[in-house]
Amino acid sequence: MEEQNNQSTKRKIAFVGSECYPFVKTGGLGDVMYALPRALIGLDCEVRVFLPKYACIPQKYKEKMVHRGSFMMNLCQGGREFFVGIMELVMDGVIYDFIENEEFFSWGNPYTDLFADIPKFSYFSKASLAVMNYLEWTPDIVHCHDWQAALVPIYLRTHFAPTPVGQAKSILTIHNLRFQGICGIPHMKYWTDIPGEVFNYPYMKQGADDANMMKGGLAFADCITTVSETYAKEIQTPFYGERLDDHLRYHSGKLVGIVNGIDVEQWNSETDKLLAAAYTSADVVEKKKVNKRALQEELGLDQDENKMVIGLISRLTNQKGLDLVNAILNHIVDENTQVVILGTGDSNYENSFRYYESENKGKICAYISYNEALAHQIYASSDALLVPSLFEPCGLTQLIAMRYGTIPIVRETGGLKDTVQPYNKYTYEGNGFTFINYDPSTLFDCITRAKEVYFGDREHWDEMVRRDMAVDVSWTKSAREYLNLYEKLKG
Ligand code: ADP
Repeated sequence: MEEQNNQSTKRKIAFVGSECYPFVKTGGLGDVMYALPRALIGLDCEVRVFLPKYACIPQKYKEKMVHRGSFMMNLCQGGREFFVGIMELVMDGVIYDFIENEEFFSWGNPYTDLFADIPKFSYFSKASLAVMNYLEWTPDIVHCHDWQAALVPIYLRTHFAPTPVGQAKSILTIHNLRFQGICGIPHMKYWTDIPGEVFNYPYMKQGADDANMMKGGLAFADCITTVSETYAKEIQTPFYGERLDDHLRYHSGKLVGIVNGIDVEQWNSETDKLLAAAYTSADVVEKKKVNKRALQEELGLDQDENKMVIGLISRLTNQKGLDLVNAILNHIVDENTQVVILGTGDSNYENSFRYYESENKGKICAYISYNEALAHQIYASSDALLVPSLFEPCGLTQLIAMRYGTIPIVRETGGLKDTVQPYNKYTYEGNGFTFINYDPSTLFDCITRAKEVYFGDREHWDEMVRRDMAVDVSWTKSAREYLNLYEKLKG
């Protein structure tokens, strides 16, 4: 009986988003969709995560999924019906409901092009809510992530308002405002069948003829969050606002910044099986050298544990400050400094980094690929990690770096500003090196300052390494903030 009572007091949270580690991940969204539900389970919530069942999900997970039912769902104007299958998997207390539809999710990649992605994620958003009703599981909160789930708050207050799930409150989290899901109004109207008034200016309409999913979702959500306090302020300005700054200022009363954490079990240098040598803060200095030599050997760099290795792990897009890196890469490396880049993305960056590698054999490695295992090894083996982003909503790589005793070198923007305190060479405080102006010479100057401490004052460098490993980058604090928000919304 008591157990039943406990059950009934659990907050029920639905997560809706387009990617989630370890099933499919292209960036930080995938990490958050994995780690935050697990942290909420630890706070006694019941969490279901709704995801598309993409063809690219590894077979070992597909084999474990259990069929929970299927039905036909009306999606478009004119009443076109689509199949909705539900495949379920439970992992560490989190229930994952994968939405199955061959027509939308048979591509290898979660994202193709916007013209195809708009129907795909319209279907996904509507199907997620339909599945909650089908399973007779009514959440307290539907927590939606980025533009791919931004129609959910709209559907919740329109098509689904008179149904059980319509009682839920909604939160829309902005992981990256640059991506909004914009297309011509007729295309959006046809696929979503959303009532005409939602296509007015206060909601989805943008410019003369476009509909914007993110804009509509922000208007309809009961609460908006983004992934750091600084980014929450920045996006209300024209420079960072991606043409939605006025809309966000209008809705600022329901906008909150909560910084991301990382899953400290997934990212743990002490138990990480992918490393040549696992380590703690007690033996980090020695073991980092072992990892460094292994990495240098694997990547064809000159093998010398005394060289400073600077890592960069990133999607290769202009958001990440790669123009700055491009401009000075030749000058960062020297007889004592190496650079390792791991990333994929825009071909101009891929090609220029490959070129710099060929010009600096043994000093630069440009590993143009997406590779989880190598990412772990670079975090562990590097002395510093470069994150010079033009904008960065939160950024996870600097948090992972700190956890692995790797000193972040970051631009002071978004979550980078909130999580990296600049090193003070007089008081020896701080946990990384930072710069403000988006300019190659400022980045160069910042890297030079890092080198000066690394080569000239190793004692304080090593102290900072150990200090960084002790920083709490887990989800503990932020998950509690989300829970408080859920409680406040539910009243
Ligand atoms: P974003 O979400 O903008 O891509 P974040 O810093 O929030 O940036 O998250 C990036 C995540 O993706 C981190 O977990 C990082 O380790 C991982 N990552 C990025 N590029 C690669 C890559 N080429 N190979 C492996 N992991 C990568």
